[in-house]
Amino acid sequence: MSTTPSRLVIDGGVIATLGEPNRVLEGHALLVEGDRIAALAPRTEVNRDGAEVIDATGKLVLPGFINAHMHFYSTLVRGLGKARPSASFNEVLQHLWWRLDRQLTLEDCHISALVALIAAIRHGTTTLIDHHASPHAVRGSLDAIARAVRESGLRASLCYELSDRDGGTVAREGIEENVAWIRACRADRDEQLKALFGLHASFTIGDATLEEAARAGHDLGVGFHVHTAEAASDQEACQHEHGSRVVERFARFGILGDRTICAHGVHLSERELEMLAETRTAVVHNPQSNMNNAVGVADPPWCTTPSPT
Ligand SMILES: [Zn+2]
Repeated sequence: MSTTPSRLVIDGGVIATLGEPNRVLEGHALLVEGDRIAALAPRTEVNRDGAEVIDATGKLVLPGFINAHMHFYSTLVRGLGKARPSASFNEVLQHLWWRLDRQLTLEDCHISALVALIAAIRHGTTTLIDHHASPHAVRGSLDAIARAVRESGLRASLCYELSDRDGGTVAREGIEENVAWIRACRADRDEQLKALFGLHASFTIGDATLEEAARAGHDLGVGFHVHTAEAASDQEACQHEHGSRVVERFARFGILGDRTICAHGVHLSERELEMLAETRTAVVHNPQSNMNNAVGVADPPWCTTPSPT
């Protein structure tokens, strides 16, 4: 087997580095050796001996995009209508997403991840942070997805979005699947695959399960990945059942922090925004999904506050 790394030259495009500072370069070429960028230089200075050359004339050459909140399995119903007209977010979940994820087998998990990863490659996305649910095929589901990630050559962070919506046994399997996957990642030290501890959302997880999941995540020292105030009904349920806002509830269980992702964040109060900022918790906005599920529009501060000069 040859040990010479493959060589690839991307030539003729406008290269935007998106570094600090950002550089926009014309008349340059990019040399990739194996999995490393070996040179970024004026095109006449780049050695292209034995390299595959991609002519990027008329194109913009960018670093890979990162998709910070994904459900690979959702690609199986792209463009499909809901089973019935849906008047609320809960009905959207009942009529589409939870109907889908309860049908998934381990093979479906693998195939749907392949579909999403192929689309990612075609659109220049090289890292994806997935949030997975398959309540009737929990055990081994993250391994099935990981196989697809390895086949794709992309990078991904995986987790199982556990909840109480399918009963205590499935909730426990969700905790165990997260723990098993996190431990496997630690043992493998594979730079292509990482782990977070997945939680579906405040409104589908009772205190006992949340406490157990939080303890397991803390023992392993990982961040969490959780839908947060995606719909107004998530806040209403939290207020009604737990007497607090969603972010306050998560704070009580130690879910926030600089390795945690709160997805959506459509319905957050000023105080909740402050808590997320104080704990350096990442918030991922998903406008396309929010439109699809009719949950509202997030109001990030940069939309209403003039940017500092
Ligand atoms: Zn989501």
